[in-house]
Amino acid sequence: MNTTVYDKPKGIVSIGPGMRSGRIYDEIMDDGIVVTAGRISSVGAAGFIAGGGISYHWPSHGWGCDNVINFEMILANGTIVNANEQQNRDLWVAQRGSSGNFGLITRYDMRAIPYANPKVPLIWAGAIEYDWSAKEEFVNRWVAFTKRHALDMNSSSMLQFQYDTTSDKWQLATILSNTANMANATTLQPMISMDKQLGNGLRSDTMGNFTREFFTDANDKYHIWFTSTYTVDPNFILYTQEQHQLLVQQLRAALPPGTHFTSLTTHHAITPTAVSHSKGTNVLGLETRVANDTVGHLFLIWVQLETAHHEAIALPIVQAWHKILEHEGSARNINWNWAYLNYAHGLQDPVSMYGEENVRKLRKASNKYDPQGVFQRLRGSGFKIPVK
Ligand SMILES: Cc1cc2nc3c(=O)[nH]c(=O)nc-3n(C[C@H](O)[C@H](O)[C@H](O)COP(=O)(O)OP(=O)(O)OC[C@H]3O[C@@H](n4cnc5c(N)ncnc54)[C@H](O)[C@@H]3O)c2cc1C
Repeated sequence: MNTTVYDKPKGIVSIGPGMRSGRIYDEIMDDGIVVTAGRISSVGAAGFIAGGGISYHWPSHGWGCDNVINFEMILANGTIVNANEQQNRDLWVAQRGSSGNFGLITRYDMRAIPYANPKVPLIWAGAIEYDWSAKEEFVNRWVAFTKRHALDMNSSSMLQFQYDTTSDKWQLATILSNTANMANATTLQPMISMDKQLGNGLRSDTMGNFTREFFTDANDKYHIWFTSTYTVDPNFILYTQEQHQLLVQQLRAALPPGTHFTSLTTHHAITPTAVSHSKGTNVLGLETRVANDTVGHLFLIWVQLETAHHEAIALPIVQAWHKILEHEGSARNINWNWAYLNYAHGLQDPVSMYGEENVRKLRKASNKYDPQGVFQRLRGSGFKIPVK
């Protein structure tokens, strides 16, 4: 369950569900290949890939799940099946993006992606932190970058805003990457060349090292995540940050004095190029949303707290706050009404947002492969297929 095996002639990496992203990259690096796993070392391949999966190779290879050639699974009746383009194709498609709704995945056979230079298995990436006063200009440059997605499928940029009670400071940062290991790619220049930088960690390094650099040891903490998606719009991103300041004020007022917490928002671009790689073989339902070259803005709020008691106080506040953003997005006519499953809170219902046709496919596959609904009724964790 926790092995990574590379079949060179077939170009397939077989990954056990117990593997975590950092180790996967380390183990296959010397073969000159990479797979679409997580960007943080501790992220498990199993849930990450089954629920979608945003890797550094998202622009060039699509979602993590788009790169699964075969799932080996144990169904509720104990049968072991393979789901791929030739065998149980309906299950293969349904399993790409719907998480744990059909069975226990015991092996993920993934497409091996060669490094630009397999003898130098590195990518070029790193974080840049900017002075808070740069945020308007940065957001405008970032949005312009997202719209040039078709020009450079190797580069990506995630934008993040963070508040921490310990420093009582707001931080603006981006994590940039170029998976072809090209330093200072032209498309990233507007962000790299921007003034007001407080720190710049850009360099060539191994995927494993980057996943460890961005790792935050947060297993003993309490996390509240909510996510939503909008058509990319600089004014709306800046609006989320005006609101973010209000959220922090509300949390400070509600939590006992001296409580430590951090509040982070991340912003990714869902580009038509990234979506195009699935060729209709996942159930995420994004094809129509990116029609006419529309770029999406995947929003995540992540509040991290020290105790379950603090989480209980903060949860209704963060949930209500996130609803305000969604309403504002709807009022501006940019709300996609789509939530990324791997970023969603248990109170959200991401699968229902995959679109009627995909939900129908999921119900059909569930009736066929799990007729007694074991994974709908008895499974304690994860998001279910909406009932009719
Ligand atoms: C610090 C951090 C960084 C992250 N970074 C990223 C990122 O860069 N990109 C991104 O896309 N996401 C990211 N995520 C979100 C991540 O993808 C999800 O948290 C995902 O659920 C992690 O999977 P897991 O296997 O570790 O978790 P688990 O809690 O073990 O699994 C989550 C769900 O997946 C399903 N599942 C797990 N194993 C199996 C299996 N063997 N068979 C069938 N179903 C299964 C189940 O429904 C389960 O409830 C990050 C999360 C954290 C905490």
